Amino acid sequence: MITVKNLKKQFGDNVVLDGIDVHVDQGEVLAIIGPSGSGKSTFLRCLNLLEKPDEGLIQIADTKVDVKKMNAKEMHQLRQKTAMVFQHYNLFKNKTALENVTESLIIAKKMKRQEAEDIGKELLVKVGLKDQFYQYPVTLSGGQQQRVGIARALAVKPRAILFDEPTSALDPEWVSEVLQVIKDIAQLKTTMIIVTHEMQFAEEVADRVIFMADGSIVEQNNPKEMFNRPQSPRTQQFLNKIG
Ligand code: ATP
Ligand code: MG
Repeated sequence: MITVKNLKKQFGDNVVLDGIDVHVDQGEVLAIIGPSGSGKSTFLRCLNLLEKPDEGLIQIADTKVDVKKMNAKEMHQLRQKTAMVFQHYNLFKNKTALENVTESLIIAKKMKRQEAEDIGKELLVKVGLKDQFYQYPVTLSGGQQQRVGIARALAVKPRAILFDEPTSALDPEWVSEVLQVIKDIAQLKTTMIIVTHEMQFAEEVADRVIFMADGSIVEQNNPKEMFNRPQSPRTQQFLNKIG
């Protein structure tokens, strides 16, 4: 489903992704953990080409690109394969919950407003916001805003959803409802990559966990092994510190 080979990115002299190789199966939930600054967000942003990688191959579903040689059409195709859910929601403040979800359907997918609204309402119901269709982000709690963000990501029917610390900006009281929505989506065998510092959640939801440090994958395993018997001293140190 997703295959990444030798993905590299540096900012000036700072090597942030030092040749990442990853494969994610259709329907697999991959969690990425690791210390601050290890390149987790940059990796997701490179997959979605929000950041242009320096080198490497990215294949998502039937789109395969060599990032050094890709043209505008390939970039567009690759971007369409994934949707991001951001830490800080990134909702349009002057649009209602429903408009936030339907925007890309109407503008990018040229869907008729009525059809887009039907889809948008169905998704908002799915994330538990049936009574909030017409509310503006400022009137929603953090957890509700993030659930709008998730509905918006689902709306474009991406082949994979990329979550970048979807709960780390939330007040503790809103975390569990957002994690529950993500778990519900995982149940539907949606391919997902989730950068998270919620280890308990990663253990519950992920099929596989990757530990990243200094722009490299240090270790990967199923959650049980990763959290109970980490192999690398670097992973042990990280898990001891946060545990
Ligand atoms: P955190 O857990 O704090 O979110 P992270 O693992 O997501 O960390 P990244 O945000 O990917 O880490 O950042 C990795 C490194 O890349 C950091 O040293 C950061 O300063 C640098 N970096 C990220 N984006 C940029 C940018 N646009 N310009 C310059 N440096 C950047
Ligand atoms: Mg980050």
